[in-house]
Amino acid sequence: MRILVQKFGGSSVADLECMKKVRAKVLAAHQEGYKVVVVLSARYGQTNNLLERAYQWSDEPDPAELDVLLTTGEQESVALFTMLLRDAGVKARSFLGFQIPIITDGSHGNARIDSISADKLRSAFETYDVLVIAGFQGMTADMRLTTLGRGGSDTSAVAVAAALGDGTICDIYTDVNGVYTTDPRMCKDAHKIDRISYDEMLELASMGAKVLQIRSVEFAEKYNVPVRVRSTFTDDPGTLVTKEDHMMESVLVSGIAFDKDQARVTLCDVQDRPGSAASIFSPLGKAGIVVDMIIQTASRNGVTDIAFTVSRKDLGRALDVLQKAGPECSHIENASNMAKVSVVGVGMRNHSGAASRVFDALYKAGVNLIMISTSEVKISCLVAESDLEMAVNVLHKEFEL
Ligand code: ADP
Ligand code: ASP
Ligand code: MG
Repeated sequence: MRILVQKFGGSSVADLECMKKVRAKVLAAHQEGYKVVVVLSARYGQTNNLLERAYQWSDEPDPAELDVLLTTGEQESVALFTMLLRDAGVKARSFLGFQIPIITDGSHGNARIDSISADKLRSAFETYDVLVIAGFQGMTADMRLTTLGRGGSDTSAVAVAAALGDGTICDIYTDVNGVYTTDPRMCKDAHKIDRISYDEMLELASMGAKVLQIRSVEFAEKYNVPVRVRSTFTDDPGTLVTKEDHMMESVLVSGIAFDKDQARVTLCDVQDRPGSAASIFSPLGKAGIVVDMIIQTASRNGVTDIAFTVSRKDLGRALDVLQKAGPECSHIENASNMAKVSVVGVGMRNHSGAASRVFDALYKAGVNLIMISTSEVKISCLVAESDLEMAVNVLHKEFEL
């Protein structure tokens, strides 16, 4: 039995017309001789609508109940799509996450998958040709519904492919032809990449390229699942995300990613002594606030400045936590209109000079760098959001992508 996993995102299932295009892709795979597992997202905008509704009803929605609400988005999609398949004479049925089951930990809103059993799916294929699974959803061991974080249907699909094993391919269908050198909505010169390594894709996703959820790439790498990113609306072969090979190593930079969800906090005149940083970051960590970039300036007369970035939604909470913790500093500044642009490439491991090219190109374009962080395979700069588009385009050109 040859099985193919096909995942379709929110814009692919937005309305009846789109769903008919999805059905054509599924029928084509079935006609090629595959049994098909279809994983669907909620219809475009639906998860945001549900979230908005929850916050109209409640100041602080209960996380477990919020997950019960959010899972209805994907439930709607699979029911409607399975009806469409059955109208076309296809033997199909839907599965919600808990019916498989996809077992997760209890981190509501951002749960991690602990286990998936492929047994039910395999035996369902004795009766059905297409199984339509609700993405994004899981269940805890004590039967509470969970969701896997924004963009989590990608992870559902890759995890199901991993559980099915035998080299099952996972096709991620979306609204662009594949993974591009940067977001094609931000740079008109962006072009599609034919093959990209798991590591590079992971880095691009971690730096803000939302075309694949970070965890889906981690899963794919861990279980060696071949992932193809393709468009629901064209016949382009898409991008293959796979193991690194020698060809890939020779490319210095494979893409530019960006993240508009950045806010900066600066603690001025912090006492420069052991424990100062801990007095700032321990309370933030305890409050579950994820800190991204951090810089500490050189000491001057026993004081330094410490700046860091957080997600914009966490800025208010971070300021409250610091207010209560009272680290020794003269005052705290903040800015919410920040963005991070990152140049990513595994080739940077073996080549020098990429950083100076980044700084030079941004300097010539008049873009001010607010913070910088680097790793073996990436260089990230924090810039004002108003400079982001310029920065992305200038870097895309500099590295001849
Ligand atoms: P879906 O709803 O299908 O899951 P997403 O909106 O999550 O789709 O992801 C697709 C979007 O990702 C594209 O429309 C594009 O704007 C954005 N994107 C960001 N970076 C990239 C990139 N490097 N290559 C392709 N798309 C990208
Ligand atoms: N519907 C969820 C979201 O909007 C999951 C997904 O689409 O992958 O984040
Ligand atoms: Mg997505």
